[in-house]
Amino acid sequence: MKITQDILKQYARLIVRSGANVQPGQTVLLFVAVDQAAFAEMIAEECYLAGAKKVNLEWQSDGISRLHFHYADLETLSTVLPWEEEKAKQMTVDLPCRIYIESEDPDALAGISPEKISAVGQSRARVLKPYRDMIDGIHQWTIAAIPSEKWAKKCFPNETPERAVEKLWDAVLATVRIDGVSDPVEKWKVHTDFISRKAAWLNAQDFRQLRYKSTNGTDFTVELIPGARWDGAAAVNNRNGVRYIPNMPTEEIFTSPLASSCEGTLVSTKPLSWNSQLIENFSIRFENGRAVSCRAEKGQTLLEKMIKMDECADMLGEVALVPKESPVNRCGFLFYETLFDENACCHVALGAGFKEVLPDGDSLTTQEAQKRGINDSIIHVDFMVGSDDLSIDGIRADGSAVPIFRNGTWA
Ligand code: ZN
Repeated sequence: MKITQDILKQYARLIVRSGANVQPGQTVLLFVAVDQAAFAEMIAEECYLAGAKKVNLEWQSDGISRLHFHYADLETLSTVLPWEEEKAKQMTVDLPCRIYIESEDPDALAGISPEKISAVGQSRARVLKPYRDMIDGIHQWTIAAIPSEKWAKKCFPNETPERAVEKLWDAVLATVRIDGVSDPVEKWKVHTDFISRKAAWLNAQDFRQLRYKSTNGTDFTVELIPGARWDGAAAVNNRNGVRYIPNMPTEEIFTSPLASSCEGTLVSTKPLSWNSQLIENFSIRFENGRAVSCRAEKGQTLLEKMIKMDECADMLGEVALVPKESPVNRCGFLFYETLFDENACCHVALGAGFKEVLPDGDSLTTQEAQKRGINDSIIHVDFMVGSDDLSIDGIRADGSAVPIFRNGTWA
């Protein structure tokens, strides 16, 4: 498809109206790369057209991030300055709609010591995570993406930069259901309604356990927390009741499992890009909820480090169902970007879970949610386990099994 101004405007409108669902009088905080200034303006204008009170902007730069990690020392990078903390604090008062436009080079931090990246992330999270936890569930946010040349060249190394960007745009637009003909806002309504119906079915089944099996070696069971909800696509800001779509694209229906109950082996079916580096062909074995061993053909050390990022980085925070017909999967290549890659097929995430899946989740502290079985960690890393023959059974309280997935898709 030719990327016209009109298509770009449709996309910007989709992100603002369906994604963040900006409401009159709300403040918006927009995160976007410096080389995407034109698209940032389109987004900002759509926000104002939706009635935003003020659109604040935070420019991002891969190049500068890389330079920070290369030249600045660990202590400096790890320190959250008082004004940064104040800013995070202010966010808990203003509750702005946050819009993130991803376009980063997946290799931006390649070659930078993963220890340094991890240590900086951990130190900063110690100060900033409590503020993030405080706005959980009471503000709207969305993440979408637009191609940059470096990102496109990573996906299509053999193409010219222009052609690579074109191909990535085609893929991105296909996954967000923009075809240049029909109204994408309408299409997203149909899509999110379908996901809501599936989630409602799962919730009505009240499964106590999921059983995964695939010929690739996946043989895994996990318990579900009684009463914990399956959720997908649309979320609700509990403060004002506004529906929004946190991730665009999104194909998944997810919940947080009982973290301490994972048993067996999960075999990855797609490479995982973490901290700008690849972990490929890996499997993880769980006992009593914890990853007790892992094996990766590529990225073994990185995988081990990831699992040890903190006390509970070796436990699951999410299980998600995505049929193999997903438009992301149909694109047939790795995006090197979780926003897309996690929507290719069924996946799980190591690390933090979502307390909002508990009926009273929003009123719980992170520690209280953890006592109820929702994992907490500074990481949340999705990896794909969906395969062409993956079957998933839901087990009811009386022990009966109901097929949920057969051959990689809804049974
Ligand atoms: Zn997910």
